[in-house]
Amino acid sequence: MKKIYFDNVSTTKINKEVLDTYKKLLDAYYCNADALYDDGVQIYNMLEKSRENIARLLKVQKEEIIFTSGASEANSTAIKGLALKNPNKKHIISSIYEHSSVHNALKQLENDFGYEITYLSPNEKGQINKEDVLKNLRPDTILVSIMLVNNEIGAINDINGIKEIVKKHPGTYFHTDITQGLGKIDVDLKDIDMASFSAHKIHGLKGSGVLVKKKHVEILPLINGGQQEFGIRGGTSNALVDIVLAKTLRIALENRESNYKEIDELYKYFKERLKEIPEARINLDNGISTLVNISTPIKSEVLLNALNNEGIMVSSKSTCGSKKNELNRALKAISVDEDYAIRISFDYENTKEEIDYFIECLKEDIKKYV
Ligand code: PMP
Repeated sequence: MKKIYFDNVSTTKINKEVLDTYKKLLDAYYCNADALYDDGVQIYNMLEKSRENIARLLKVQKEEIIFTSGASEANSTAIKGLALKNPNKKHIISSIYEHSSVHNALKQLENDFGYEITYLSPNEKGQINKEDVLKNLRPDTILVSIMLVNNEIGAINDINGIKEIVKKHPGTYFHTDITQGLGKIDVDLKDIDMASFSAHKIHGLKGSGVLVKKKHVEILPLINGGQQEFGIRGGTSNALVDIVLAKTLRIALENRESNYKEIDELYKYFKERLKEIPEARINLDNGISTLVNISTPIKSEVLLNALNNEGIMVSSKSTCGSKKNELNRALKAISVDEDYAIRISFDYENTKEEIDYFIECLKEDIKKYV
């Protein structure tokens, strides 16, 4: 059976050039990047070159790139690291629909360390109002953490507007999870204190990500160890993985506009074709074109299963919460019943024919189950 992958928000296929480079590196190098003999120094130099290239691509400084195992670790490090370094300021502003790696880090600070968290709800467009950020800032607010693009409903937040507000509030830092926006929409890290992203969402390797932490921000290391990552993240460098991240990011950013144009065309085509099914509706329009959340009269777990049997891979909630009974906070925030919603997410490798097949399957499934 032909398989159709419509779960690109969850992860993406590894770019062939990235994979080939990684395989070659794996074959050739195994020394510790901190070893003092020539082979170690060679890997170290490649690792630092990668850091430099990533910094240039993101228009930040080399010392501001901290390699991590992905966006979850970057989020935890940014949020808990900053909060625990500043225990005299115990208020944080965030949104109710952040990824679980942000949400649960905040819950931990709230429940175990006595922090007070303001969870902002999105407006009818699914976005966090910058005015709400302004209204809730206090002298003891240490951090504002608002994601760029929501991974469930695709809402794009006005990060530039929010950073301007936080900038005018000395002593408060701004962190943003750019995982679902990077490589798709334009991201400007100027005046953003910290940002997190993951390689596997931009056709890179899993277990690879970055925390951008500007030089003026001090955080408490969560993983203690040696001198790696400026003492902020201990442990033997995952050097080869970190080295290929520079290539991953370069390819993603060089092709960003043309790839997104293709994705946007698919999104528009999907919307047009979905009109043929009056029982189905889009839960949030005008968000990012990489993902579309729809509701149908079929229970999402039944539909997911039916589509799976038809060779189509989609999801009903964030994959990180799919095996826990975790509520879909984003859908709840825009008053959508999560029991009937599914998320379809596109990549430039998807085709209109795949969308046609999806639409035909959905029509059949509605006939069968409703
Ligand atoms: N943030 C967002 C917005 C995400 O979509 C994800 C992945 N689902 C993450 C963070 C976590 O990324 P990783 O899998 O690299 O830890």
